[in-house]
Amino acid sequence: MSKNNKDIKCSFCGSGKQDTLMLIAGLDAHICDKCVAQANQILAEELNVRKNKTDSSVTLLKPVEIKDHLDKYVIGQDQAKKVLSVAVYNHYKRLGQKIEKDEVEIEKSNIIMVGETGTGKTLLAKTIAKVLNVPFCICDATVLTEAGYVGEDVESILTRLLQAADYDVAAAERGIVYIDEVDKIARKSDNPSITRDVSGEGVQQALLKILEGTLVNVPPQGGRKHPDQKMIAVNTSNILFIAGGAFDGIEKKIANRLRTQTVGYKFDNNSVEVDLKNLYKYITPQDLKAFGLIPELIGRLPVITHLNPLDRATLLSILTEPRNSLTKQYQKLFEYEGVKLEFDSEVLEFIVDKAMEFMLGARGLRSICEAIMIDAMYETPSGKSTKELYITLDYARDKFEKSDIKKLKVA
Ligand code: ADP
Repeated sequence: MSKNNKDIKCSFCGSGKQDTLMLIAGLDAHICDKCVAQANQILAEELNVRKNKTDSSVTLLKPVEIKDHLDKYVIGQDQAKKVLSVAVYNHYKRLGQKIEKDEVEIEKSNIIMVGETGTGKTLLAKTIAKVLNVPFCICDATVLTEAGYVGEDVESILTRLLQAADYDVAAAERGIVYIDEVDKIARKSDNPSITRDVSGEGVQQALLKILEGTLVNVPPQGGRKHPDQKMIAVNTSNILFIAGGAFDGIEKKIANRLRTQTVGYKFDNNSVEVDLKNLYKYITPQDLKAFGLIPELIGRLPVITHLNPLDRATLLSILTEPRNSLTKQYQKLFEYEGVKLEFDSEVLEFIVDKAMEFMLGARGLRSICEAIMIDAMYETPSGKSTKELYITLDYARDKFEKSDIKKLKVA
């Protein structure tokens, strides 16, 4: 049924044919020249906003500035902070590089951080995310399995990143991913032919593909629960990957290697002093290979850095110094109740002693503080108008002894 020319209107503004210069017909609608011009303007503005957004994400913080920021939240670990700051800075530089013919192309340098659990690997990664204006996500390698097995496919990492980027693919493609517990996907045995190693070497192989930079089809909702979902193609060549792991037992492999080396040195009458308390600092790619990472994966993580074990003094600083240290957090909580909270310095020493004794590291500080503070936090909001709370050593010791936390003691 054809419409009378006079009945035809712009489907957007409603102007009749006689009021427009031109009316373009679509399948089921018409658009007039004015609306086309307006739509064009809206499109240009939006594209400009998006361009500015991506441009501003390359505003650079210098490595020293990035480290300064890390210093506010993370105690010690200078070496790791420096390495991370430089890597992130270079990552930005690389993103901004417009490759001309014959120009040197800066290669991506993914990072691997090795250090005991609870020494601040995740904290470093999270803190660095705060200074960045690129999408950032943290994933756990323990849940990954080879494609087709129970667990998550490696692509799920990129789903997270896409979600962090609000599904802006271009932004996700310049993001940073932290893969935690990467040591848990080490090869389980030296002989891979016995059984299929679906959560070990299989995952390493799958990760390789993503790390080296390729076009990956990513399920936007993740997993296989939505088999009909349309895949999003993500190019991983500009995504920076940071892997972290405790690599329990790797010290022995480092020690073994050093021993053979030191014997060599001594032979030359040139003995080297080895810091036996912190063997992590001598880590090399060779040790990671001995631990069970495949050489190809190690090759894709060319920057290795270590975190130092936390000693007593560091634990004490962690308790009080960072911008959001535990003591400051408790003080803030009580401040909301109108109560000024103070800790006797002996209490802080006590908390650190117990964390050392229980071998809980920095993670233990929180549980010990909770054990001491839980009653006060329970009673204060409905208590009488106390204006000050001073935690003494006797009080802390009493609460600690009565708590269940003693059961956590490592035998
Ligand atoms: P990892 O990832 O190395 O196992 P985390 O980063 O999760 O350890 O650390 C656990 C908690 O211990 C953190 O949330 C933080 O409160 C504290 N912590 C650990 N190391 C440090 C540090 N160097 N400076 C400040 N806090 C730390």
